[in-house]
Amino acid sequence: MVMYQIESVTKRKNKKKIAIIIIIAILFVMLSIFSAIQLANYLHNKENIAQNENQTEGTTLAEGDKVSQSEEQKDKENNNAEEQTEKQNIGSLTKEQINAINHIYSSDDKRAFLTFDDGPSYSVTTKIIDILKEENIKATFFVLGTMVKSNPEVLKREYEEGHYIANHGYSHVYKKIYKNENAPLEEYKKTNKLIQDALGNPNYQSNVFRFPGGSIGGYYDDIKKKAKKVFDQNNIAYLDWNALTNDADGADTREEIMENLKNTCGNQSSVVILMHDAPNKDLTAETLPDVISYLKKQGYTFCSLYDIL
Ligand SMILES: [Zn+2]
Repeated sequence: MVMYQIESVTKRKNKKKIAIIIIIAILFVMLSIFSAIQLANYLHNKENIAQNENQTEGTTLAEGDKVSQSEEQKDKENNNAEEQTEKQNIGSLTKEQINAINHIYSSDDKRAFLTFDDGPSYSVTTKIIDILKEENIKATFFVLGTMVKSNPEVLKREYEEGHYIANHGYSHVYKKIYKNENAPLEEYKKTNKLIQDALGNPNYQSNVFRFPGGSIGGYYDDIKKKAKKVFDQNNIAYLDWNALTNDADGADTREEIMENLKNTCGNQSSVVILMHDAPNKDLTAETLPDVISYLKKQGYTFCSLYDIL
């Protein structure tokens, strides 16, 4: 009986031990599994981070590629635009527009184009545009490259107030601008670029040229004839005048200015009037109100080249 009891106590103790061992084993297995899961998660996350980093780098590279591609494209577009500008520089007028300039002297209605050459000057041009503003008249300025360089802000004001900026070449020195048949176009292009810079508008085209001294006659007549063909080939118009005040040569008083205006306008329906806004042409600015008043009384409507182009 005692033996049995001892045996039974020993068995119970063994059972307890086994149970404890099993529990420890289970806990160990669970801990191992938990640790394994943790480790797996850690490794997985690490891998993801590494992948993300790669992706980010990849994305950055891809975007970098895109940037450089789009920059390349922009460069190409810019080059195309420059090429187009280059082409436009050499004439952006249509045949119809050139025709309109070539037929400017004939019209059914009475119209007067006030044109001013050799500016812009600070002293005279500003007075002229003040008067034009007051009268609400738009005019046309045939500007010189050298003067645009000196007075870019005056040119900008002319443009902003709605006047047409046309081109009178760069130097106004006959032996330079008429040294060969291509020189007038070269001076035109040089001046056009200066106009663009002054206006801050790289697309501005002056499109209409006035030959210093006129397109016909004089010592350089042969060169002018050939130069006109060069302008024709490049779709650039050129324009002289059919009325003048003689303010550049000969007219020293208001009366003489008015006399010349009346005589040269005559009974013409469409008049392109040559005047000057060089720095010494104070008399032109002083007489302008009389010129405007006379033309109004004669029934003329004032136009700029914008009205026919
Ligand atoms: Zn001139």
